[in-house]
Amino acid sequence: MNLRTPDSCSGKVPGLYIHIPFCRTKCPYCAFYSETDLSFIPDFLRALFKEMDMARNQFDRFDTVYIGGGTPSVFTSYQIEEIVKRIRHNFALASPAEITLEANPADINISFLERLRDTGVNRLNLGIQSFDRKTLIFLGRRHSSAQAVSAIEISRKAGFTNLGFDLIYGVPGQDMKAWLDTLSRGVAFAPEHLSCYQLTVEANTPLITRYQKGELPFLPEGLQYDFFIKTSEQLEDARYTHYEVSNFSRGIKYASRHNQKYWNHTPYLGLGPSAHSFSGNRRWWNHRNLEDYINELSLKNAPIQAAETLSPKQLRLEALFLALRTSAGVHLKDFSEKFQYDLLLEKGETLARLQEEGHITIRDGILYPTRSGLAIADSLALI
Ligand code: SF4
Repeated sequence: MNLRTPDSCSGKVPGLYIHIPFCRTKCPYCAFYSETDLSFIPDFLRALFKEMDMARNQFDRFDTVYIGGGTPSVFTSYQIEEIVKRIRHNFALASPAEITLEANPADINISFLERLRDTGVNRLNLGIQSFDRKTLIFLGRRHSSAQAVSAIEISRKAGFTNLGFDLIYGVPGQDMKAWLDTLSRGVAFAPEHLSCYQLTVEANTPLITRYQKGELPFLPEGLQYDFFIKTSEQLEDARYTHYEVSNFSRGIKYASRHNQKYWNHTPYLGLGPSAHSFSGNRRWWNHRNLEDYINELSLKNAPIQAAETLSPKQLRLEALFLALRTSAGVHLKDFSEKFQYDLLLEKGETLARLQEEGHITIRDGILYPTRSGLAIADSLALI
């Protein structure tokens, strides 16, 4: 399968994602793939390096690298250094490349962080989730609020000038006041980036079992909306740009360059168990299970579980769905040229209604979701 995509084909530089499939403990709400048996780390690293070797000619170069998971900070700084070295050895990186690593506040110390900086990691995303003790306990997090504060302080000390926090709202037992308190505490540290996710109840998690047993109340839709709107208002008042449904940055300069690739159909290569890749109209993904992933690579096979080719209609619908989740919106002329589909012509009535309801605006040929539009982005995309 030849998936080579020169930059010049799409005009967009691809991104590289590495999935680290390990966590020390599992959080009951999480559906991302990870294992807690860390004794597999050496086998995983050998397999990952083989996969890099096999994938080295698929893309010309990358300008972002995102090391996520799972919990990359369960690795030693030497193991992370080795991963970054192998990336540089196998792939061309544009300069300057954005290199992000996700970390759990409980794992990091100053020497770990300084070494990360030395390896070229220049963006750190801390999985803080909350500053409230009860919420952290409910979420099954293994760090405390004090550890989160200390992680932020030492990250700055180690020289990270592009720092992001993940926070979660809509947690049972958390009222608006408690959430806004966590948000203000986060903002007080002036992170360059904030991802504020609503707690979602994912299939095959211990959390969904609790809901199914009736142990927990679902958050009423009206309250979900209120959480979203308050979050957006509070962060925009604090001069953050609400650039995607769940993402805020201190000016567009600090928007995640890597994650934007997922939202605008830029090609990306994903390595590691369960990682997804995309190029042109094709998407493919790796075996989710660590053992399958390692076995395939030990047989010198690409660890790809399956692939799909998107039809022009699927690509169009997906492009619309993704663009309506971002403040960049949809450039109507570009969209029409790319997909041979004139949104104003085809969906004029619906767009007029959505404008009247205040969910979208159209200015200078661009269709933008408003704040309330972002709040209902999933249904907006059904136009
Ligand atoms: S939320 Fe993060 S730390 Fe918790 S299980 Fe999922 S990937 Fe691991």
